[in-house]
Amino acid sequence: MIQVENLTVHYPDTKVEALTNISLSLNKGDFVCVLGKSGAGKSTFIRTINGLQKPTGGEIYFDGQPISLLKEEQLRKVRRQTGMIFQHFSLVPRLTVMQNVLTGMFGYRSSFKNLIGWFTKEELDLAKRVISEVGLSDMATRKVERLSGGQKQRVGIARALAQQPKVLLGDEPVASLDPGTSNRIFTLLTEMHNRLDLLTIINVHDIELAKRYATRIVALKDGKLIFDGAPEDFKDAE
Ligand code: ADP
Ligand code: ADP
Repeated sequence: MIQVENLTVHYPDTKVEALTNISLSLNKGDFVCVLGKSGAGKSTFIRTINGLQKPTGGEIYFDGQPISLLKEEQLRKVRRQTGMIFQHFSLVPRLTVMQNVLTGMFGYRSSFKNLIGWFTKEELDLAKRVISEVGLSDMATRKVERLSGGQKQRVGIARALAQQPKVLLGDEPVASLDPGTSNRIFTLLTEMHNRLDLLTIINVHDIELAKRYATRIVALKDGKLIFDGAPEDFKDAE
């Protein structure tokens, strides 16, 4: 589904080569955890796959199409198939769960009376469905600022699922959560991954979590790929 070929990312302002010559192929059904110490290049890797960061070398193919050659409209189509969740959730605290999911999906459509109005029945139904899938139906009208960290990340997951993605990306989505909550979030991600037949790629720094939930581990060190294989074969030598 996603082919990464000789991917290199150089940041000119810090003169850091965050990724060096990474090649791998990521397939539907893979639940990939990307491991590596702080600064290893995990976040750059995820952001490059999502098109938020431009490669300085190499190419990423999405369903066979080279990303760098895509026109704006095609690129938007590819990005729409990629849902993303974040360490700090990236939600709007003063809006409700429902409003966060809807604006995440469709952008703001405000009318002069209504800060958030203007959604079709289908859009509202989809939002309700994904909110129910992450177990937050009872809190749909609650403001996000009043939720716990785990609940906030569930909203993040609902917003990503509302895009009906083929690929789910996570940039350290459990780094701010306690171990129990992290496990529950990973359990939910695993359920969604299996049911929707996704390609899931999640950065984590916790090796135990990665080994418990991933079907495949990719490890980075100083921007280089040092491991790509089954969790049971991964030895934490680094
Ligand atoms: P990780 O997610 O594994 O902590 P990052 O991808 O965030 O790694 O960072 C990899 C390297 O690139 C680090 O040395 C970091 O300082 C550098 N870096 C990351 N983002 C930027 C940026 N926007 N500008 C300059 N340097 C960056
Ligand atoms: P219904 O039968 O009411 O239309 P379902 O929940 O059975 O709704 O979903 C229909 C299809 O949509 C199924 O193929 C299912 O895998 C898919 N689907 C369900 N939930 C989601 C979701 N959150 N994101 C993307 N696709 C979904």
